[in-house]
Order: sequence, then structure tokens, then C-alpha cells
Amino acid sequence: MDLYEHQARQLFEEHGIVVPRAEVTDSPKRAREIARRLGGRVVVKAQVKTGGRGKAGGVKLAADPAAAELTARQILGTDIKGHTVGTVMLAQPVDIAEEFYVSYVLDRAAGRFLAIASAQGGTEIEEVAATRPEAVARIPVDPAEGVTSATAARIAEAAGLPPRTVDVLVRLWEVLTRADALLVEVNPLVRTGDGRIMALDGKVTLDDNARFRQTRWGAEGAAHDDPLEEAAAAKGLNYVKLDGEVGIIGNGAGLVMSTLDVVAGCGARPANFLDIGGGASAQVMSDGLSVILSDPAVKSVFVNVFGGITACDAVADGIVRALDTVRPTKPLVVRLDGNNAARGRAILDARAHPLVEQATTMDGAASRVARLATT
Ligand code: GDP
Ligand code: MN
Repeated sequence: MDLYEHQARQLFEEHGIVVPRAEVTDSPKRAREIARRLGGRVVVKAQVKTGGRGKAGGVKLAADPAAAELTARQILGTDIKGHTVGTVMLAQPVDIAEEFYVSYVLDRAAGRFLAIASAQGGTEIEEVAATRPEAVARIPVDPAEGVTSATAARIAEAAGLPPRTVDVLVRLWEVLTRADALLVEVNPLVRTGDGRIMALDGKVTLDDNARFRQTRWGAEGAAHDDPLEEAAAAKGLNYVKLDGEVGIIGNGAGLVMSTLDVVAGCGARPANFLDIGGGASAQVMSDGLSVILSDPAVKSVFVNVFGGITACDAVADGIVRALDTVRPTKPLVVRLDGNNAARGRAILDARAHPLVEQATTMDGAASRVARLATT
């Protein structure tokens, strides 16, 4: 789960990292009042959980409170890389002398964290990393040892950051451990014209496994990047939004992953996928179908179930009940195999729903569902 910039900023501030004065609002009128409080000139920043806001028009300087209101009105409600802007943060502008990049990120393969830092921070950091990798320092961090002043000094030295950033690097590690984060990133960390080191932007990704003890973010913090992901999580389902047109439901991660591949192999793109796990009960199936079908990008749905502990007849009962509660408007292709497959198929045949077809093989189902999605 990602935090919003203003939440990351709050964490930074609590751990003694200097940040610009700022306030958040969803109202252009209040944006004007906030700008007045902050001294008139402000940076208006879209609060969306995606990077590259600056280049997408989500970070704008406003010269006075009236301009702040206008700019907030312009930015609120717009779409930034697929995210609707619900709130803006107004921040006191900072006179930037230098922009740095610093982050800690979990390196799963190495079983460690990685400190990534560069003296060439700012909106072009990806470009810098791609074209001049030597300008980006990568220092492993032992999670048990953490970032001591000595480690921080090594990171700063390797990246060519000024010595004054050492303290920030130590504090940023405290943010990571305190928040149970998998990633904390500051880009840019700046040196101001008058020599202060400040965090001008922040990204924090929390470890969902620690959600039980990171309760402070409440409903907002728990918000998923996609409203349907949130609806699915609320029902205990594993749903992932993708950007194609075929909705995919399966039981078990392995089957779902191979279903994605087979659909892609038939020339269609998965719109999403949902793993209903081992207990494919009627309720789970109807919850799952309602989530998949509420995605407007979905043109057809592939239900791919291999009956095991939950037999196919129970799954078919689930689908039939789901058809009555969810009332699909898009075609479904169902492939049932495994335990009690014949009984399951008979149940679906008996229901004879006009939008539901069955296929006996996974490949056959995939090519059919791909055709339904692309014609
Ligand atoms: P991002 O594009 O989503 O990473 O948003 P950022 O908050 O990092 O802002 C993008 C860029 O806008 C930064 O790299 C800065 O160059 C610039 N910027 C943001 N805040 C300020 C500010 O207070 N003063 C100045 N001069 N530039 C700013
Ligand atoms: Mn940034």
C-alpha cells in the first residue's frame, strides 16, 4: 500500500526531516485561504499515488492566493496517469539550489535493503539511472544493523551528497522501520539556496503484512490504488487490475497465472484477474464475478476452475447463484475440470444462461474468450 505524498511528508516531519510548510484540501476556496496563510506564493500539488506528477501537470506554482484557488480548481478532479485528483497539497515554495535522490527499498532477492542515492535527483532520475548508472549509488543495508551514521556517511559519500545529508539518511531509515515500509523515497531531497536540506517530495510504500499494527492511516491509508481492488480486498479476494479487456477468474495462483498467459497467447489482453482460492463457494463466486464485471474495461470473462477440495459442482452452483445476483451483461466462458467436472458442466447446461458458454479445454476457452473480447 502506498501513502500519499502528504502522509509521507507527515512521517518525515515526525522524524525530524525538514519539509516545506504545507496543507491539504479538496476545496479551491480553502486553497486560497491556505495560500494566504502560507505567505501567498505556493506550489499546488496533486495528491495521487503515482510519480511523475510534475511532468503530467500535477505540480504547479501559483503566484498568489487567487492563483492558488484557480490552480487548485484546475487540478482537482483531473486525471493524472489514471488517478483522479481528489485533494491537493499547497506547499511553501522552496528556492532549490540542488536536487538529490535518496531511497531505501527492499531487495527481496538479496534479503536486504538497498540504499539508492544520487546527486542528480529530480524529475529526470529515471533518465539518469538509464544513461549514467555510475551517477546512482547502490549500497546494501543489512536490515538488522540498519542505517547507522557510519552507513549513512558511506551512502552520502558514494553518491556525492553533501555531508549535511547524513543525518537525513539516518532519519529516513527510522521512517522506514517505524512505518514498516518496503520503500521510502525522497525525490527531490534538496539543498536550498540558504543551505538547508529539505525533502520536497516523498513516497512511502507500506508492507501490507504489517497493516494490523499500522492502523493510523485508517480508511484513507488503507485505500487501494484502484477502487475495485479495494472492493475485492474488503471481500477477502485477491484481485489485480490490468489494462486489457478479458476478465479472468480462477482458483489458485498457479492456474490464474497460466490463464493470463494462455489468454495473451490468443491475442487478447487480461483486464484483471481474481484468484478465488481454494474455497470457490457460491458466495465467493458471486463476489468475484461482481468485482470482475464492474470493471468497465472488461469485454468478456473467462472463469477457469480446476475442481479440487471444492468440487466443480459446488463451483457451478456458485456460478448459477452468481448469475442471478450479479446479472452479467458480458459473455462468460467457463471451463470446469477436475473433481466432479461432469456434474458441474451439467448444472451450467441446465441453467442455460444466454451469456454463458462452456469449454472443455483451457486453450479452447481462451481462444473463445479472446474472440468475444476482440470482436
Ligand atoms: P513528482 O513529479 O510527482 O515527482 O513531483 P515532485 O514533488 O517531485 O515535483 C516535481 C518537481 O517540481 C521537483 O523535482 C522540483 O523540481 C519541482 N518543485 C516541487 N516543489 C518545488 C518548490 O517548492 N520549488 C521549486 N522551485 N520547485 C519545486
Ligand atoms: Mn518527485
